[in-house]
Amino acid sequence: MSSNEKTLFGHPMGLYVLFFTEMWERFSYYGMRAILFLYLTKSASEGALGLPEDTAGAVYGLYAASVYLLTLPGGWIADNILGQKKAIWLGGICIMIGHGVLALPATPSIFFLGLAFVAVGTGLLKANISSIVGELYPEGGAKRDAAFSIFYLGINLGSFLGMFIVGYLGEKVGWHYGFGAAAFAMFFGLINFKVNGKYLKNVGEKPNKKASYTYLYVVIALLAIAVLSVTTGMLDSIQLANSMKYIISGITVGYFIYIGFLDKSLTIIERRRVGVLFILFVAIAIFWSGFEQAATTFTIFADRHTDRDLFGWDLPASWFQNANSFFILVFSAPFAALWIWLNKRNLNPNVPVKFGLGLIQLGLGFLVMYFAAQRILDGTLAGMGWLTFTYLLHSLGELCISPVGLSSYTKLAPKKYYSQMMGLWFVGASLGNLIAGLFAGNFDEGNVDAMPGLFMQFCMYGAVAGLLMILFQKQIKNWMGGIE
Ligand code: GLN
Repeated sequence: MSSNEKTLFGHPMGLYVLFFTEMWERFSYYGMRAILFLYLTKSASEGALGLPEDTAGAVYGLYAASVYLLTLPGGWIADNILGQKKAIWLGGICIMIGHGVLALPATPSIFFLGLAFVAVGTGLLKANISSIVGELYPEGGAKRDAAFSIFYLGINLGSFLGMFIVGYLGEKVGWHYGFGAAAFAMFFGLINFKVNGKYLKNVGEKPNKKASYTYLYVVIALLAIAVLSVTTGMLDSIQLANSMKYIISGITVGYFIYIGFLDKSLTIIERRRVGVLFILFVAIAIFWSGFEQAATTFTIFADRHTDRDLFGWDLPASWFQNANSFFILVFSAPFAALWIWLNKRNLNPNVPVKFGLGLIQLGLGFLVMYFAAQRILDGTLAGMGWLTFTYLLHSLGELCISPVGLSSYTKLAPKKYYSQMMGLWFVGASLGNLIAGLFAGNFDEGNVDAMPGLFMQFCMYGAVAGLLMILFQKQIKNWMGGIE
């Protein structure tokens, strides 16, 4: 940041341009996502698609997994061809078109085409906008950390407003009005980016590398195979989602093995750090696979099994997902202060312990859902407190794991693999979302008795993974080789 640059609250104006662009983008993403599973599963008589839960879960999983997976080619395109600014602009346009298509009362195939546009657009926008935030602060340090915290508030402010407005319109007025509102939100984000983009100066203007196009061709070929396998009826969406789960896990493990064992240019310290990155990858994928059930199983629970009556008004089921952004907005600052306070007293938990705490809170949230699910077995509705309490635990878990994980990834990555490792962070979210979608396939209406057991399963995953992180904290910390 140069000394004569225009600032607001000590940060360059560019940060606020990115803040509002991301706010509107997340408004559209989370707003649409809040009603997506309901739209997929509700009956045609309610104006929706009426898919069975397992197909809907697979479609949700494939969509959300692609959103995060496509951040890899999205980052590559920005680095090598477009520069981040143009990639964000193009991504925003794709997202707006995608939501616009969803707003049309058309056939399911057109609807899936709309989802594909949103996924490609988000792939271009999401990771690139975060990397420009970093580039505004080339000196790094505490100022950059503060900028990311402000940016995270923009994310959650956007999702909070989006879920309220899109959720209300979608469920109470008409699904397609909801999707249309998401398209308008992205339109506002694009206007903001265009009008105020000058404050970004020349950051993200030009690509910074020139690589061979082979990578891009491979990605396009893989996408074409996936699309063809479904359109020709070779695979259905459930089989495709299941195959994708194994392909993503396999490639990730292979990639870690390559870096950790086969790249002889890395030192032993760097290799151990790669080992830690792998452990954190598994932990974050488990975390998101439970957490992201907000959009699937928890929304089913809110819709079918929760008494949503508030002073005579039936709350939209999609609004429960809002509890997460609300709790993040409320607790982000106290949490940041808590870590600083603990740090001063040398009591700040280390990275594996924070991950452990996050995973245990994930498990506890599912324990709450286990009890809630037992109450509804005889047909009674659960009170709103159950889901809200689960969201509280999951949001506190998110605050222990997500910001800490992201910054550990930036610090532990060997220099030459820096951007790939950042990409892998999003692959963790991709895998988590895919599992969260596939898991919802077990929640069909005729299978209510299985619900407590299914929630208990995730309670165990979270608790066991969390305890392992805490148990092996010394070993993991040693492998981090001095990085805090
Ligand atoms: N809620 C955050 C966001 O949208 C983190 C989501 C994730 O990484 N899965 O950026």
